[in-house]
Amino acid sequence: MPYEKLLPTTVIGSHAMPGWFWTAMDALKEGKYGPTDEREVYDDAVRLAIWDQKEAGIDTITDGEMRRWYFVQNFYGRMEGLIERPVLRQAGLYAYDSVPRYNLVDRVSIPTGLGIVEEFQFLKANAGDGQRIKACCPGPLTLTMHIQVREGDPYKDRVELAWEFAEVINRELKALEAEGCTEVQLDEPSFGIIPGKLEDWVALLNRALDGVSVRKNLHICFGNLGSRPRGKRRYDWMFPALLEMNVDCLSMEFANREMVEHDIYSRFEGQFDFMAGVVDIKSFWNEPAEEIADRIRQVLLHCPPERLSVSPDCGFFQLPRWLSCLKLQNLVAGTRIVRAELEGK
Ligand SMILES: [Zn+2]
Repeated sequence: MPYEKLLPTTVIGSHAMPGWFWTAMDALKEGKYGPTDEREVYDDAVRLAIWDQKEAGIDTITDGEMRRWYFVQNFYGRMEGLIERPVLRQAGLYAYDSVPRYNLVDRVSIPTGLGIVEEFQFLKANAGDGQRIKACCPGPLTLTMHIQVREGDPYKDRVELAWEFAEVINRELKALEAEGCTEVQLDEPSFGIIPGKLEDWVALLNRALDGVSVRKNLHICFGNLGSRPRGKRRYDWMFPALLEMNVDCLSMEFANREMVEHDIYSRFEGQFDFMAGVVDIKSFWNEPAEEIADRIRQVLLHCPPERLSVSPDCGFFQLPRWLSCLKLQNLVAGTRIVRAELEGK
């Protein structure tokens, strides 16, 4: 479906969690909520995420990933063949070495799927007529990040395990398409630190997207847990291998890197549309609209406007809601400034 305006705005996936949502998560853990309470909490959180994005005027919205925990952690609860093992570091700040970890006891299976189809059904039913929506799914390598593969396991290494996940994701995306989803996005937030070779990653992602005919985005960033990056914060080394990706659009982060590589579109060889991250989700600095407009103008020096959409750098789940809403509003206001310039108004 073509966009009806220049520079459409979108989000990467996760929305900020309201304060009461954290309190509700504590109550859930303490066994104070029943299944009905739990469902109501998640449904209400998604409704608020939809509300915030629509209120800001975002063109393509998501469900805010409110039913996920820390981007991927909920998915492991749906998997069979895993056993949880002790967290490496529990004291001090919560970071990449504090997350739940798993060992394999069998081949991994996910009998009821990743649950993204159910997320999409609720989003579709609640987004309102005419609202563009998309469904986001972690990439196959990202799904392996919490799982250690040891000698004697059913998989040789994490890359081989990722091929299992590529099949799971492919089934999920095709089921989304069957539900009427018109735009999907794969998220690989730590492209720079995953095992294997770049060519393996491209082949894996292409397998996950094989036969999916709706609009396909690939979001590549450098990690966002605790607002900290994890991967090597450059994209240039990923080319030309990325040119083999079977996607419609590449999504990348720039604002937190002070627009380094804002000319990266020239490496695309015209193959992909471009979703540029122009709002810094790792900073409490609330960029005014004019500053966001300046960032978009920098990207437009190298990218034709009809190929460009704009977004925050990554998801909002590590920022407070009030600030996330201000950033969304400024994204829309900054984009309107540049859109008016392009249209000669
Ligand atoms: Zn990201």
